[in-house]
Amino acid sequence: MEILLPYCNSLTKYSRLKTREVMVGKIGIGGSNPIRVQSMTVTNTMDTDATVEESIRMVKAGCELVRITAPSIKEAHNLQNIKDELYIRGYDTPLIADIHFTPNAAEIAAQIVEKVRINPGNYTDRKQFKVVEYTDSAYQEEIERIRSRFVPLIRICKRNKTVIRIGVNHGSLSDRIMSRFGDTPLGMVESGLEFVRICEKEKFYNIVVSMKSSNPVVMVYANRLLAAKMIETGRIYPIHLGVTEAGEGEDGRIKSAIGIGTLLEDGIGDTIRVSLTEKPENEIPVAKSIVNRYSNRKKHEPISNLDNQIVNPFEFKHRETTTINNIGGANPPRIIVDCSRQKDIIQKDLSTIGYKYFNNNWHIDDQAADFIFVGDQAIDFELPSELTIIQNAEVWQNSNNSFPLFKSNEYLIANRKKSKILNFVSISSSEIDTDIIEKIKTDDKIVLILETENEHGMAEQRRFIFELIKNDISIPIIIKRNYSRLDTKQLLIDSSVDMGALLIDGLIDGIWLESNQSPEFINTTSFGILQATRSRITKTEYISCPSCGRTQFDLPEVTAQIRKETEHLKGVKIGIMGCIVNGPGEMADADYGFVGTGSGSIALYKGQEVVRKNISEKDAVKALVNLIKEHGDWLEK
Ligand code: SF4
Repeated sequence: MEILLPYCNSLTKYSRLKTREVMVGKIGIGGSNPIRVQSMTVTNTMDTDATVEESIRMVKAGCELVRITAPSIKEAHNLQNIKDELYIRGYDTPLIADIHFTPNAAEIAAQIVEKVRINPGNYTDRKQFKVVEYTDSAYQEEIERIRSRFVPLIRICKRNKTVIRIGVNHGSLSDRIMSRFGDTPLGMVESGLEFVRICEKEKFYNIVVSMKSSNPVVMVYANRLLAAKMIETGRIYPIHLGVTEAGEGEDGRIKSAIGIGTLLEDGIGDTIRVSLTEKPENEIPVAKSIVNRYSNRKKHEPISNLDNQIVNPFEFKHRETTTINNIGGANPPRIIVDCSRQKDIIQKDLSTIGYKYFNNNWHIDDQAADFIFVGDQAIDFELPSELTIIQNAEVWQNSNNSFPLFKSNEYLIANRKKSKILNFVSISSSEIDTDIIEKIKTDDKIVLILETENEHGMAEQRRFIFELIKNDISIPIIIKRNYSRLDTKQLLIDSSVDMGALLIDGLIDGIWLESNQSPEFINTTSFGILQATRSRITKTEYISCPSCGRTQFDLPEVTAQIRKETEHLKGVKIGIMGCIVNGPGEMADADYGFVGTGSGSIALYKGQEVVRKNISEKDAVKALVNLIKEHGDWLEK
């Protein structure tokens, strides 16, 4: 078996990776400090009053560090006015300058604020989207060029006790890194570590590192690899976590929770930012509800240890499972919606989970649940063939579109009536033992519904699945978690992390969120989780930046307009970016791009190519729709 670098302290016992502590003003990051919550202003940095007001709103919401963009020297200088005014008003919250392309601005900002964020992809490079082959010596020359431009900032930071965040973005890797490592987690990690090594050579260790992407899967793999490489060297710097361009509303929250939460589950991450295309103060409660999951986590019920890493944590590979009916194998992850609390289910009830009945026919949405659990009830009308019933085994009557759910002891011990096609068997992830393994090993008619009561439930369920892999058992697994005590906001976060973390590693074949909330909410959230992990695409994908001082149009409003026009375009990826400086790089994954280029002026992109320029803001949404039509990706609603 391939020996894989460890990337965290333990896969079974919650434990935070011990990183070096850095002080950002009065706030410690890493070491034994709590996980810090931060956000970024969206005002024009030259508008001191607006930036101060917004910063105060963020701090009042619980933001511990405030990041402000400094696109040029004049904004960098104005950070002093902002800092002074905040101080006068009684706020000494540490400030972070966000720098892209402008070392001069970084060098000024580093003398004013407590932390400077630089992007290795564009600190000294301007992206040309060119593939250039570098010889080793030419590559080394480039590193020396970067060193000569970066060392002055390091020396200023050393003198002023300013922290540097080396903040890599998947979308803005330099052409040099792309040419050698490709558009990969390894490329992201190398991009950051090149800058880390320069700092270390200068004996500068006041560093925080981040690996961000709009794709939570890439973001998770890159951060694991970063952690593994730092563990290998023994110099472990604090890690800042975030999913870039996550978008707004529920989708933005789901994406962020999956990316950030998956890593926090394994103890990786010292500070987080949830980037939403909304007011920055809206990001803070979301960030807190992710972080608060870990306040008591150390006390979880013990989970038996694992000798080594069973799957490669740095590369996606779906666990190979047997196809049973429409579950497992090459099928997308399935969704079970619990309707057992609803009495006397009628056709109309199914409209909330994607099945509408009119004109004597079923009409099925893209986001239609695959199974409904009805408990002891029966359905007395004909269902569409796409929807299947799960019934408690005691009441189950053999039929084509209904399958029984057994408790593990009922299924494994008693001589019960079973389906010849598919039996669901509910099992707790703490139950695994050799007896059970032997009994299920050869059964090709079961799908396990894996439950857990453990506070560290994702790890316990993962442990169970690793045991199956070790024993060559390819039974499909559906993860069930009980969220009955949670309101919709916390349910959205918790289910995204619990399910997302297992989907990101390709370990499961379906999800079941048990809750008192409406079937509609559960269905939408379940599909949102599958979409965000890119394991089942059922709607348009929006990659929209949170906006910042560089944005010169009403980004949340325009995002809402674009969404209204295009949300029926399943699978199409649309980037909506506030500025031309970073936007095109950050939305590299998008099929179409909508990018601000100046005051009220928009450019449209097809892939990475700009195809329309200087469109006024008021005409731009329509122009985007026309562009999608021209390229054949439009569907009438
Ligand atoms: S892409 Fe958006 S968040 Fe990033 S720098 Fe531009 S406007 Fe700011």
